[in-house]
Amino acid sequence: MVAARPAAGQPLIELRNIRKSYGGTGGEPSVEILHGIDLDIRAGEFVAIVGASGSGKSTLMHILGCLDRPGSGSYRFAGQDISSLGADELAWLRREAFGFVFQGYHLIRTLDACHNVQVPAVYAGMPAPERQGRAQALLARLGLGERTGHRPGQLSGGQQQRVSIARALMNGGHVILADEPTGALDSHSGAEVMALLRELADAGHTVILITHDPQVAAQARRVVRISDGDIVGDGGQDRSGVSPEPAAPECDARHFMAGMARGAAHGASWFADVKETLGSAWRTLWVSRFRTLLTLLGIVIGVASVIVLMAVGQGASEQTLAQMAAFGNTHRMSIRPGTDNARGLRGLLTEADVRLVSEVPNVDIAMPFLTGSVMLRAGGTDLYTLVWSMGHEGLRLFNWQLARGVFFSEEDERQLATVVVLGKLARERLFPDGDAIGRYVLLDNVPFRVIGELAETGEDDGDNIAAIPFATASRRVLGTPYPGLIQVKVVDPARIDRTVADVTAVLEEAHRVRDFNIANNPAHARAQNEAARQQSLLLALIAGISLVVGGIGIMNIMLMAVKERTREIGIRMATGARQRDIRRQFLTEAVMVSLVGGVAGMAIGLVIGVGLIYWAVPVVFSIRAMLLAFGCAVATGLVFGFMPARQAARLDPVVALAGE
Ligand code: ADP
Ligand code: MG
Repeated sequence: MVAARPAAGQPLIELRNIRKSYGGTGGEPSVEILHGIDLDIRAGEFVAIVGASGSGKSTLMHILGCLDRPGSGSYRFAGQDISSLGADELAWLRREAFGFVFQGYHLIRTLDACHNVQVPAVYAGMPAPERQGRAQALLARLGLGERTGHRPGQLSGGQQQRVSIARALMNGGHVILADEPTGALDSHSGAEVMALLRELADAGHTVILITHDPQVAAQARRVVRISDGDIVGDGGQDRSGVSPEPAAPECDARHFMAGMARGAAHGASWFADVKETLGSAWRTLWVSRFRTLLTLLGIVIGVASVIVLMAVGQGASEQTLAQMAAFGNTHRMSIRPGTDNARGLRGLLTEADVRLVSEVPNVDIAMPFLTGSVMLRAGGTDLYTLVWSMGHEGLRLFNWQLARGVFFSEEDERQLATVVVLGKLARERLFPDGDAIGRYVLLDNVPFRVIGELAETGEDDGDNIAAIPFATASRRVLGTPYPGLIQVKVVDPARIDRTVADVTAVLEEAHRVRDFNIANNPAHARAQNEAARQQSLLLALIAGISLVVGGIGIMNIMLMAVKERTREIGIRMATGARQRDIRRQFLTEAVMVSLVGGVAGMAIGLVIGVGLIYWAVPVVFSIRAMLLAFGCAVATGLVFGFMPARQAARLDPVVALAGE
């Protein structure tokens, strides 16, 4: 049994010729604080290190607790040379082997007593229910069972010190390092704390008590006197704790070494970590919620405006497209006579061309088309109207609906029938009393029989027209056999570019020159759409800038948080947090701000969008835009939170603990 304990042969803590200096950088003179300390402490001892203020006690304790490294000399803990350990391994040792009790308690003020006690177990990866139970039990044992939900600010000094003792015991507290634990307490609370430390020593914990007060020191079983960085007296090793009876197995130093061999770098499981980090980030942000809210605003405005601007842009361009589709524009192109560049010949389109074009693949309709302003007369009314002469397919080509009657047919074309289909407006002006079907209109003094009336088209001036067969018009009204242009409707607008090329080839072969132009509506629509898209991208860019501004806000608040919470960072490091734990904590807070901002921004963006729909503004929400905005927000948090998080993680534990 005894052989299983390092105390049998070897001290738990061996200091040899430890020196520590401060200063020596930036022109300051270097001052040596510890001048070669030799000290052995065995497992289970209750040692007081006593000395005047400024004699180097705290400096020594920081070295003992692996919060600081000695300038020179060797420190072996349970036989292990500390100087060979990396930052993560030191963090592990602080977490598993040591429990710190400070004069100023050093509790995290945003956490309640129970959560403060749990901090070391969080970094050790203890599952939450187990951790919680243990923290409650420890607090109950120290007489704080009723106070577990109180924050440090709501507890007295003595109570806070007991919370910090409970925290020191959370992971076992094999070696309790207490630096002036009674220094800030009234005599009664001080006596209580001393009684507790004695109890712990009796239970087998190694207790190292640091004090300037000889009366307090006298309560320990061994007193080491320190003056100006030198040990000036040692009451001799305390043998009482090194009884042949085995101490609690958790106080066996080999336990640490074995644990460290198993994986000092290993902390909590990834998932438990994330849950815990999120929870703690949330609590921290909640405590300073007003400030958090202000920081959020930038992100909220950024995300909301990205979503709204993209939705409005998308809505506008889809409305344009929908309108074009309604008039058949997306499927239409027209061929106009032009001038051949090489020879300056003015071209003419013929009905033969119409037939040629109609045979090109993907061409649905090709029809002659000619317009002219003509005087229409019915009864006593004269009306200048645009006469559209076209093929019988015109109804389908223009996507018109008939309000009454019929459209002219192929047969009408062949017979050069004098029939007319009136637009709604033309009909209303010429026949204000209603139905015009079967009545006659004089077109340039030629009587035309009204056979149909178009429904309202919604296009500008689209209703003040009269449609007649091209064949009739060219011979009897407009007096030219040549179509002004050829209107073409394609089957598949996606293939329109190919069709334009084919039509060009066919006509060029027939004319031997390129004396025509093709107006390609779908291409035009595409260009228009592209322009709208670019405009909405520009708007999104502006919104993106506000995201960056929000990100700078996050960076600002996080840098401030690191400054304000330097002490907390020190406490976390003293309780075993590794650099990466600290980094992750601050990064999580930054991302959480942006996450909350992103969600709020999405919600507000949606509400504004729905409001716009209510005001009849065309709005199309796109999942892509939303995910984009949200992703940008989170990325903003990550990017702008990284620098402050790294700054926090790189703090030196001792410096951080001394911070405000
Ligand atoms: P004690 O705890 O015994 O009162 P400390 O160990 O805190 O003494 O300090 C010992 C001496 O080291 C003091 O003179 C103090 O001013 C100096 N000292 C402590 N920490 C630092 C530091 N970070 N930089 C410079 N001097 C320091
Ligand atoms: Mg001190």
